[in-house]
Amino acid sequence: MGAGAPTITGRTAWRALRLPAAGHDFVHARGDLFESTDPATGELVAVLQASTTADVDAAVAAAVAAGSRWSSNGELRARVLYGFAQALRADADRLAELLTREQGKTIHEAHIEIAGSAKMTEYYAGLARLVYGRSAVLGDEVTGVVLREPVGVVAVITPWNWPLTLLVRSLVPALAAGNTTVVKPASITPAISVEALALLARQPGLPDGVLTCVLGSGTTVGESLVGHDGVDMIAFTGETDTGIRVMKRAADGLRKVALELGGKAPNVVFADANLDKALAGAENAIFTTCGQICTAGSRLIVEDSIHDELLERLAANTAGLRVGDGLDPSTQLGPLASAAQRDKVLEYVGRGKTEATLVAGGAALEGELYDAGNFVSPAIFADLPTGSSLLRDEIFGPVLTVQRFADEADAVALANDTEYGLAAGLWTQNLDRAWRVGRAIRAGTIWINTYHHFYDEVEVGGYKRSGIGRQQGLEGLYEFTETKHLNFDGKATLW
Ligand code: NAD
Repeated sequence: MGAGAPTITGRTAWRALRLPAAGHDFVHARGDLFESTDPATGELVAVLQASTTADVDAAVAAAVAAGSRWSSNGELRARVLYGFAQALRADADRLAELLTREQGKTIHEAHIEIAGSAKMTEYYAGLARLVYGRSAVLGDEVTGVVLREPVGVVAVITPWNWPLTLLVRSLVPALAAGNTTVVKPASITPAISVEALALLARQPGLPDGVLTCVLGSGTTVGESLVGHDGVDMIAFTGETDTGIRVMKRAADGLRKVALELGGKAPNVVFADANLDKALAGAENAIFTTCGQICTAGSRLIVEDSIHDELLERLAANTAGLRVGDGLDPSTQLGPLASAAQRDKVLEYVGRGKTEATLVAGGAALEGELYDAGNFVSPAIFADLPTGSSLLRDEIFGPVLTVQRFADEADAVALANDTEYGLAAGLWTQNLDRAWRVGRAIRAGTIWINTYHHFYDEVEVGGYKRSGIGRQQGLEGLYEFTETKHLNFDGKATLW
């Protein structure tokens, strides 16, 4: 471990939550108890009750029954969603602490996640009053009116890495478009999800049943939701293999799906880039959320002439990163979110050591501060053989591979040598090249001389095995609508 191992200064006395508690009657869960624990310390964060099949039925039935007052009243939807955004901001300190305790991310990032979730909610609150169609004159006295209607009941299934942002990114546009919803949060981060949802559920004017929630594992609760006859659409964010499974199950009922899946993003640095910025960008790209982010720039691809210099500087910086408890404000990387995730990362590191050069990190951290948590020192590998699983698989942890390229065509070929297509970065001061390479890389977001900047107004989503559909922006709202054409013949009796 590099210099400056942290002392834990941020912890306050903490009593585990017992959820659902009073004010959480939107949660349908009467099954077995399960626990959520702190990945930094192993402490209990919350005790929750899982949902049974009967609970899933009840949640969906409530969502089916809730419909029309909500779908026909954009002003009400806007008011409720603005209220939710304000409540998120007002409760940011408590929510951020809970998010860090349950997920492990740094408290700084937890605050960014909550503020960003509030901002995205405000964006869609505005758009809630813009959900209407258009008309077209289609010939002599023939008019087409195209209505934009909600899909119906939307099941929102979320992962644990950015549990609030990814909840809001599907749930809020679904609600803004007039749908009713059933949410199933990840079992690793249920408490932060339920606590945030409670702020929405308590908004004055939200009709009963518009927001319901079920809890528990994906293979039981998630699957019964996806296969439920009352569900019209599934908005799923998670692993590609799970997404495929969800899509197959949804196909039995021909239910609509929106899938936001895994990634293995290339981050390409040309020799003409501003190297200081590219270096900082490469670190931000891979180490945000300890590498547990779908857009992680996990494959750094560097032009030959600067490869060795960049690798050396990167290795030195990485060895000095402060790994520790996310509640300590000086921590730069928290723990992995679960023991399973830590074990997966260490397995890839072990494989990497046998086939490539480990340039930094890659150890399970030990000692008083680390023993109870899922800590791994961030790892960098170079000299990887073609076809290495470290280059191919989404590891979802702080593991960076570094490859070299000879020319632009080589860089593009390496960048596109993946089954995924969620995001990419490129660093160059040559605008023509930025345009050419940006167009040639097959991914939903290409960051040029920056990384990990998201804007509510702009769509994100995946090419290839990274997903189906788009989120954020106007398209992220329209995903949750159907269009209906009413065709009027004015020569007949109507006008
Ligand atoms: P996961 O696929 O294991 O689980 C995601 C959610 O699906 C959880 O709520 C889980 O309980 C549920 N689930 C699991 N099996 C299910 C099934 N058979 N039927 C229905 N639901 C089921 O993913 P994860 O480990 O929670 O999250 C990490 C993954 O999410 C990574 O692959 C990451 O790239 C991806 N991700 C993608 C985006 C994006 O925008 N594309 C954003 C964040 C995370």
